[in-house]
Amino acid sequence: MATHKHIQPNLVFADESGNIYDHPELLMLCRRGGELTPPRPDELIPLPEGSEFFLLPGRSALGLDPETGQVEELEELAVAVFASPAHTLSALAAYNPRPGAPVLPLFAYGAVGFAEGRFWVCARRVDQDRRQEFGNIPRERIENGARKLLTELPGNRLVRHLTSCALTYGCPAAKNFALGRFEAPLPTSRTCNARCVGCISLQPEESGFPSTQNRIAFSPTEKEICEVMLRHQAKEKRAILSFGQGCEGEPLTEAARIGKAVAAFRKAGGRGTVNINTNASLPATLPELARAGVDSVRVSLNSARQIPYDIYHRPNGYAFADVLESIRTAKGLGLFVSLNLLYFPGLTDCEAEWDALSALVEDTRLDFIQLRNLNLDPELYLGLMKDVDFGPCMGLANFLKRLKKTSTWLDFGYFNPYLDKSAPATG
Ligand code: SF4
Repeated sequence: MATHKHIQPNLVFADESGNIYDHPELLMLCRRGGELTPPRPDELIPLPEGSEFFLLPGRSALGLDPETGQVEELEELAVAVFASPAHTLSALAAYNPRPGAPVLPLFAYGAVGFAEGRFWVCARRVDQDRRQEFGNIPRERIENGARKLLTELPGNRLVRHLTSCALTYGCPAAKNFALGRFEAPLPTSRTCNARCVGCISLQPEESGFPSTQNRIAFSPTEKEICEVMLRHQAKEKRAILSFGQGCEGEPLTEAARIGKAVAAFRKAGGRGTVNINTNASLPATLPELARAGVDSVRVSLNSARQIPYDIYHRPNGYAFADVLESIRTAKGLGLFVSLNLLYFPGLTDCEAEWDALSALVEDTRLDFIQLRNLNLDPELYLGLMKDVDFGPCMGLANFLKRLKKTSTWLDFGYFNPYLDKSAPATG
């Protein structure tokens, strides 16, 4: 990955109407945890295509005066970027919240600067896979794909749900299903046994910010699920079929239904990687799912330590120990195990977190870490974690380098990998 050693971007800020400017003198600052610093030379990349700009309401822009070395606060507003998929943020936007500033919605707020005629962000492309890039795909192709699905499977409610998500919300997973490529989503569960602070499918009124997706309003039958799976694998040779989507609760609460659907899929000759994105709360459900034909599980967590885990995920009827047990059980069953690590710069990449995570990887020999940006108002998350000791932070690059050094088989990415069962086993 090309980084740009000599770049020192200038501060970017915005006026109340959302017009964005670069400051003539002040330099870009970024934030890791509670620390304000200039960006590290090795973490700056040109703004990836498909990224979005955010104006941060009630938050003053902060920049660095290169003459005095002082942090300067502007009257104008701070700007952040939501990096396009496959990119992990290594630092967040620097700003000062004003009294009464509203809670920010469920996104990740990356640091951005301007230099040499372009925008720069503190991020790293962690996956070369292009499944969530639609820049060169005309909408018409997605519409035609959706229409074809509705014609082929008119009575299937899951097809109706997914085609509407593809065309209304622009859900990348649903669009890929309509296009018959990469990974197809299989939302199945309406309930969840966790109450993650940043849940994207269900937010309590009092949280002060909306969920970004509506939770699925029906429970698809085994037949409906199996039809979607067979249809997708008939179109995509390297099909990935994933339970546990943003628009549902916890799939393991529907283990019996999922098990029957997967068994029927395999019995009908279904090929491809069957994956479950899960909070891994119910280890006892895994043996039956593995027998049915599930290949991989992706376990979501913000930390490999119980206290920060409990604070964020707020388990209801299960314990952190069950999550660890699920990872061991899944490995014991020969499943491919990924972590969906909810990465927060300045906390996740701290010594205490690294120690716990590398111990978990060593102990369970899990296979893969997906580095997803934690989508939550930074102030809110830092406030939740204020009494937790994290130790010094090392930066995303060092975090990955040290993990790879101690666990050489471990791979990193952003998306669920296709598991080519014909390929010779590694690691
Ligand atoms: S596990 Fe998923 S569905 Fe459940 S609360 Fe957390 S984010 Fe929401």
